[in-house]
Amino acid sequence: MSVNYAAGLSTYADKGVCGLPESFDSKEELKEKVEALAQLIRESQYLVVHSGAGISTSSGIPDFRGPKGVWTMEERGESPHFDTTFEEARPSLTHMALLGLQRAGYLKYLISQNVDGIHVRSGFPRNLLSELHGNMFVEECGKCGKQYVREKVIGVMGLKPTGKYCEEVRGRGLRSCRGKLISTILDWEEALPEKDLNRAEEASRRADLALTLGTSLQIKPSGDLPLFTKRKGGKVVIVNLQPTKHDKHAHLRINGYVDEVMSQLMELLGLVIPKWDGPTVCESSTPDQKPLPAIATKKEVKKGQSSTGLISIAHVSWPKQVSSYWCPFSIGFFAVILP
Ligand SMILES: [Zn+2]
Repeated sequence: MSVNYAAGLSTYADKGVCGLPESFDSKEELKEKVEALAQLIRESQYLVVHSGAGISTSSGIPDFRGPKGVWTMEERGESPHFDTTFEEARPSLTHMALLGLQRAGYLKYLISQNVDGIHVRSGFPRNLLSELHGNMFVEECGKCGKQYVREKVIGVMGLKPTGKYCEEVRGRGLRSCRGKLISTILDWEEALPEKDLNRAEEASRRADLALTLGTSLQIKPSGDLPLFTKRKGGKVVIVNLQPTKHDKHAHLRINGYVDEVMSQLMELLGLVIPKWDGPTVCESSTPDQKPLPAIATKKEVKKGQSSTGLISIAHVSWPKQVSSYWCPFSIGFFAVILP
């Protein structure tokens, strides 16, 4: 499927401010700022990252309001350029660095406005992730809430039925749920997924450091979540090339490519950026990582489920040093019900 998912949304007048000029810190300035960021992260107790479309541009997926963004081009009457499909898009350095930060225990929660599904396919634990605008690869049962992560994009937008039915069986001898599956992708003005938003707000209040990567912070309520952290006495660090709506609230403002910033940051923290071995899904982080209370219980994992379309992660070879404690449910097919 084309990555121009925006074309599938209904028309909507207010796309926010598009096409603002980008600015770049000098090499020395950038180095100093990333050193300051590394220090803030070392001192932090609860780091939350907010990611936007800017972290997927190096994966070949255009952003929305950048110089060549989807809405910027639309304003000029031009079509955006796509270098990939959602299925073929590879995680960027930033996606993988975030996984490294999570595994190292620095990153406690990730909030994304991206619908490209790359965070999930990179193996970032889903119980530490809120996808506020949905995920192109995820469909959800309208009856029991079970989510299915598929290998291919769902191809339906705006929370509409996908034509499939829930296969969840709640007990032996019982019939399957058969609820209608619906797309998780929001259209303009649709309400955000309640569970994801609640978890994102809770994490934002709990955070003492909010790091925003590649987002202009213009879309509400997602873009305002870093302010929850500031109101509770935490700090906000913004990494973006264009000005953002909340620059004045930032403790530190970095004008640089997110991949460059994350590369320098990981080196300063002495962390290795994990390698990507193909699409993989990790439902849960390690038990000792204390997920948020709202999602700490009621995990259901099924192994060996043969429904077509669920992503197989059996082929993924996990790095030896993490396989024993990271993502305990990583073998075979699986499906998970969130509470
Ligand atoms: Zn169901």
